[in-house]
Amino acid sequence: MERKHSLKGWRLIKENMTEKQYEKLKKEKRKRQNKKWNNKNRAKRKRYNHSYYIKNKRKIKKQTSDYAKRARKNKTKSKKIKAMARLANKRVRKTKRGKEQSRKNSRKRRAQKLKVKEYYTIDDEKYTYSLFKNICFNCKGRHNLQIDHIYPLSKGFALSRKNACVLCEKCNISKSNKMPEEFYTSEKLKLLKKIVNMKRKPHKYKID
Ligand SMILES: [Zn+2]
Repeated sequence: MERKHSLKGWRLIKENMTEKQYEKLKKEKRKRQNKKWNNKNRAKRKRYNHSYYIKNKRKIKKQTSDYAKRARKNKTKSKKIKAMARLANKRVRKTKRGKEQSRKNSRKRRAQKLKVKEYYTIDDEKYTYSLFKNICFNCKGRHNLQIDHIYPLSKGFALSRKNACVLCEKCNISKSNKMPEEFYTSEKLKLLKKIVNMKRKPHKYKID
């Protein structure tokens, strides 16, 4: 499908296809061209998107919040719905209500930490990053790394050297407050336990 077709080529293709197949092919071609154009004209695209947003603010807001509701309601796997829901959440976080909500959440989290007596020092954090070699344990990504509770805080487990692992933001969000048995395959879980129980000193921590 990646091959470019000459005009004659297209005609030949059209003759040997059903109408539906041809439409699909054309749609894919348009998509490729749009992508190419967008990559070349990032600034223009951004300006256009912004002005479109300003003009259709209300409509877009309603649409995205509908998507967010749908995403919450029936745990969707659709990429489009997920993306739209993310957009809606991002906008909500900027409003007064959203800010209050996120402050409430962080207060709740702080209270949970106090309740389970969680105290994780900077040295402990360095230890964990070094133990996991500065990559996400789940997807091996190197960006937006965070320390994750292997057994979740919300279920009463404090962060400790044996209950900490490194995940990227995306993996951390999808792990959320699941128990490790629910999130990892049994093979990965075995590896995780092996890593956190390592006896030897981890190599020196460095930021890359
Ligand atoms: Zn990851």
